Amino acid sequence: MKKWLVLLFVVIGMLFLSAGIVSAAKTEALIPKLILDGKALEPPVPPVVVGQTVMIPVRIATSNLGYKVDYDNKKKQVTVSSGSKQLVMTLDQKTAYLDNKPTEMVRAPLLVSQNILIPLRFLGDSLGVQVFWDNQIKSAFLFSSGNAGNGNTEQPKPTDPPDGGLIGIVDPEEGNSSEGVTDGGGTEIPPTTTVPPVITGNLLEVRYETDVVVLKYDGMISPNAFKLDNPKRIVVDIPNAQYSDVFVPAVDLTTVSQGVFEVAGHEALQKVRYSLFGSAKSPRIVLDLAQNWDYELVNDAYASELRILLKKPVTDKSVYTVVLDAGHGGSDPGAISLTKRPEKDFNLSVILKVRDILARDERIKLVLTRSDDSFPTLDSRSELANAVQADLFVSVHANSYTAATNGTETYYTREESKEFANLMHSVFAPSTGLKDNGVRNKSLSVTRKTTMPAILLEVGYLSSKIDEPKLWTNELQDRVAQAIATGIKLQLKLS
Ligand SMILES: [Zn+2]
Repeated sequence: MKKWLVLLFVVIGMLFLSAGIVSAAKTEALIPKLILDGKALEPPVPPVVVGQTVMIPVRIATSNLGYKVDYDNKKKQVTVSSGSKQLVMTLDQKTAYLDNKPTEMVRAPLLVSQNILIPLRFLGDSLGVQVFWDNQIKSAFLFSSGNAGNGNTEQPKPTDPPDGGLIGIVDPEEGNSSEGVTDGGGTEIPPTTTVPPVITGNLLEVRYETDVVVLKYDGMISPNAFKLDNPKRIVVDIPNAQYSDVFVPAVDLTTVSQGVFEVAGHEALQKVRYSLFGSAKSPRIVLDLAQNWDYELVNDAYASELRILLKKPVTDKSVYTVVLDAGHGGSDPGAISLTKRPEKDFNLSVILKVRDILARDERIKLVLTRSDDSFPTLDSRSELANAVQADLFVSVHANSYTAATNGTETYYTREESKEFANLMHSVFAPSTGLKDNGVRNKSLSVTRKTTMPAILLEVGYLSSKIDEPKLWTNELQDRVAQAIATGIKLQLKLS
């Protein structure tokens, strides 16, 4: 087993161990929640799980969905109605009547402290309400059709990968976008149509505590954070969420573009801004900094709190860790060139040359995802980089598409990698002597799942009569390796 692999397992093991302790301690206090369109309802009794069935209080759920709810105490019958639609259920009886037609429930309605609970899934099926149960945070989510995207009960799905062709997309395993199919002219292909987002989280408050910006919410959120320069700031985007009507500090984002509050007495944090961002109008929280500080996001789903921890960077860092990733390998040849040579060999050859150049610099600690013809999975590549807390990640590939396509591209995914991508491309693209197709933004596994500035270089096209013979020459590979080494040093300000 490779040394880094052992290290990786040790690190991951420690993570699991600590996460296990934390969640074990917190599970006891967890009260299941009922969330409608991102807003937490306040049911008189919480949802319960009986066997495999999630049961929710019927009155609060349906009345908030706009249904009329009646209870006949004598018959022990609850009737949920709206217009001509009627659902009748009887306590302790599995048969319900939907518009007078008998229909079976997996479990009969229960009475808990004067409240009738019915199976969540049954409510969803019979009333056409989109529902799901998040067992991790013990929450039942309901989406009225208005928020489920044009009454469509499907969750929006990522665009299906383009079919078949392993060739033509930057990386076959990455074909999850219509963009980036290179046409050789660097033309932008417009992004696919967006589906209105399902709201799963409702933001309640943003406030500052010592070295922490706290965001309180209801429901479930999956924040993305990144740093930007000029001016220095930390940006936290929260897709599939909205500001609640009672959000604190209050702001009317229909009349002003953003809310702001100042922070006094912090070395770096000056103010916190909150606004809507992008076509989906997702909440965006921006922390304006007077100097470069690091951050860590802690999303505590149990406390319904996102904590943005501000961390003073360790100054005068003397050694940087750089992960060099030769694409593909082993059973995965990558693209096959015009002369039937596998891309994996090209990638490794260039990476080993970069290693030989940078190995002489004591300020740089190199970590290779592979140094021979082995095949680390995509996930293990990004996990390795994250585990060693790399400062930079550079992946080398060669592309393949139609015979007419040629040239050099630099790819990045996350905003914080953009500066590195531009800097690297400025030295790397000229070194190839091939056509310059520019810097491109694309969601690729290794550049998306890493947490440091990460780029993927497509040196040229193995399918091109122009590029292919040059790509296999020592001259081109030496120049490219030298340029990559220079780009890394420039980015680390080690030149
Ligand atoms: Zn490749």
